[in-house]
Amino acid sequence: TATGPDAVERATTDIRDVIVIGSGPAGYTAALYAARASLKPLVFEGAVTAGGALVQTTEVENFPGFPGGIMGPDLMDNMRAQAERFGAELVPDDIVQVDLTGTVKAVIDSTGTVHRAKAVIVATGSQHRKLGLPGEDALSGRGVSYCATCDGFFFREHDIAVVGGGDTAMEEATFLSRFAKSVTIVHRRDTLRASKTMQDRAFADPKISFTWNSEVAEIHEDGGKLAGLTLRDTVTGGTSRLPATGLFVAVGHAPRTDLVTGQLDLDDEGYLKVASPSTRTNVPGVFGAGDVVDHTYRQAITAAGSGCAAALDAERYLAALG
Ligand code: FAD
Repeated sequence: TATGPDAVERATTDIRDVIVIGSGPAGYTAALYAARASLKPLVFEGAVTAGGALVQTTEVENFPGFPGGIMGPDLMDNMRAQAERFGAELVPDDIVQVDLTGTVKAVIDSTGTVHRAKAVIVATGSQHRKLGLPGEDALSGRGVSYCATCDGFFFREHDIAVVGGGDTAMEEATFLSRFAKSVTIVHRRDTLRASKTMQDRAFADPKISFTWNSEVAEIHEDGGKLAGLTLRDTVTGGTSRLPATGLFVAVGHAPRTDLVTGQLDLDDEGYLKVASPSTRTNVPGVFGAGDVVDHTYRQAITAAGSGCAAALDAERYLAALG
C-alpha cells in the first residue's frame, strides 16, 4: 500500500493542496486553473508520455484560438508553459500507486517517494486498444503499430492494412498513403463510424481501398517480421489472406484507470465515474477529467474544459475543508 515502511521513509513532509496526475489537455488545464488559484499544484506528467495523446499527432485544426491550426506537440508545449508560468510544479514521472481513501491522499512516484495532498485530480487519459491476437505483441515494432505519425515513415512502399472504422483509422490511413504502396482499411461492418470529412478524404485517396465486413483472424510472421494477415468475413465466416507487411491497429482507446481500480468507482467499460456535470468521483477530494472519464466526446477542447472544471471543483472542496 502507499503507507508501507519503505515508502514512508521516502515521504515528502509537506501536504499539498492539489496533485494532478496526467499531462494532456485535461491535466495541464487543471494545473493552470489550480495554479492561478494559488493552490501550487504538483503535476505528474508521466515518464515517457508527457503532453498526452496530442504529442503523437501533427496538425490540430479544431482547437479554438488557432485559426491556421497548430501542431499537436506545440499546442501541448504551450499548455505546459502556461501552467508553469503561474506556478504549477511539473514532474516528468509516473505515479505508480495511490491511496486516495483518507482526507490526506498519498501518491507514489516511480522512485518510491510518497507525495501527499488534500485533493487529487485524475487526468490520465486513454490508450490504444489492441486486437488481442497471438503474435501481436511480439510483432509490435516489427510490422505492427498503433501510431501512423510515429511509425509511418518506416513503411515506405509497403502494403499496409489499417484496422478500424472511426476517425483515427481514417486519419491513420490517409497519413500512411503518403508512404505506402497501398493501404487497405479492414472494417468489421459495411459502414464507417468516422466523420463525413474523414470518410470523404479516405474515399478520395487512390491508394486506399476498403475490405468491408472483415476482421483480422490471424497475424503471420516470417523471420520475426509481419508477413501477412488472415481475414475473416464477419457475415459468411469465410477466410482470406491479405499480403500486408504493415498493420496499423486503430480500434479505439481504453481509459487509463489501472492506477485507481479498487479505490474509485469505474463504469462497465473501465471509465472513471464522476457525478456529472461535476468532476467529483465517489471519493471526496478526488476529481476526474478528460478522456479517462469521457466515452463520448474525446476531444482536446472537451478534455481541457473538464480539466478546468476539476480544478474549480477542487478549489471549492478545499475552501469547504477550511
Ligand atoms: P491524454 O492526452 O491522453 O493525456 C494523459 C496523459 O497523462 C498521458 O499521456 C500521460 O502523459 C499522463 N499519465 C497517464 N497516466 C499517468 C500516471 N500514472 N502518472 C503520470 N502521468 C500519467 N483531439 C482534438 O480535439 N483534435 C484533434 O485533432 C485530435 N487529434 C488526435 C490525433 C491522435 C493521433 C490522437 C491519438 C488523438 C487526437 N485527439 C484530437 C484526441 C485528443 O488527443 C484527446 O481527446 C486528448 O488528448 C485527451 O486529453 P486528456 O488530457 O484526457 O488525456
